[in-house]
Amino acid sequence: MIASLLPKIPLYWSFYKFGFPKLLPFSIVVSVSFRCNSRCRTCDVWRKPNDDLTLDEWTRVFQHIGKPIYLTFTGGEPFLRKDLPEMVIAAYEHCRPEYITIPTNGILTDRVRDGVAKICATARTSKIGINLSLDGIGAEHDDLRGIPGNWERAMQTWRALNELKREYTNLVLSIHTVISKFNIARFREIYAQLQPLAPDSYITEVAEERVELDTVGKNITPLAREYAPIADFLSERAHAHATPARARSVARITQSFRARYYQLAKRMLFEQRQIIPCFAGWASGHIAPNGDVWSCCIRAEPIGNLRETNYDLRPLWFEQIGTLRKVRYSIAAGECACPMANASYANMLLHPPTLWQVALELLTRRV
Ligand code: SF4
Ligand code: SF4
Repeated sequence: MIASLLPKIPLYWSFYKFGFPKLLPFSIVVSVSFRCNSRCRTCDVWRKPNDDLTLDEWTRVFQHIGKPIYLTFTGGEPFLRKDLPEMVIAAYEHCRPEYITIPTNGILTDRVRDGVAKICATARTSKIGINLSLDGIGAEHDDLRGIPGNWERAMQTWRALNELKREYTNLVLSIHTVISKFNIARFREIYAQLQPLAPDSYITEVAEERVELDTVGKNITPLAREYAPIADFLSERAHAHATPARARSVARITQSFRARYYQLAKRMLFEQRQIIPCFAGWASGHIAPNGDVWSCCIRAEPIGNLRETNYDLRPLWFEQIGTLRKVRYSIAAGECACPMANASYANMLLHPPTLWQVALELLTRRV
């Protein structure tokens, strides 16, 4: 990913600073529906009304979003859409992203397994990352997710996905934990009990108050002083995972970025400001289920709707119509800040000091 992005880094900087050259985002999140079969304590997205783009409409969108390196299909629960595999395959046909990521609560075991198999079999040149959401262990997870039996179903799904790994080498299985006020006190035990599942990657994110999820004012985010020791623990674990035997491997680069992400999130919670410049609205963007375009899901501020542009992102992204200019001004002025992982990783990839630190760490094998 870094190799294909490197030549574009100065261009994105110029776009951010001077408004040219105009570039489409290299990281795009697509929310396929707000519908969800979980009732998480950290999310009210399932209460939102639905007006989802059809498969045909999404196909037309994918014809006009350029060649993002990273494409994420989220929700709601993405697999509630029966046509999710066709949607992902349409995106693959038109965009050829290097990475396709899909989070899931793992409740619909058969549908997830069959859908992932279909996607992996077709999108052969993309890495297909499936992130299983696990916020606790057993009954604790069910309580946080509001669905009795969710943990058992998620474990069935995990086993089914691991079976698929034997056949599909492009499948990458991750476990994702949202760290909130409700589980932070037990986080280390949760972490320890999840590791035997042996994911390819273990990811955490701080529960944020997002306009997208209708969680503004819900008081779900841990305090900075609660999160700080967890961030240090996770950074230390990320470094430990990057053993010298994995030197210069993709895994080691990823872990190095991950260790830095936790420290960024920690500082952001303490200082309540953008620690490094945010490129959401330039290099990363989000498309809502109804075609609204956002800079990010935290602000979830529609800059326009793709149904009004014949499903073409460019008039909105290049400020020919819509309100992105105003939103960009606000972001560049630092009027918002958050530790949201998707945007943060894109930001780190465009932040020369971070790139330099990661490169230095790899060269000196300082872990
Ligand atoms: S966090 Fe995910 S699984 Fe939980 S209600 Fe929201 S969309 Fe559904
Ligand atoms: S700092 Fe956070 S809220 Fe502000 S634009 Fe970036 S991702 Fe969105």
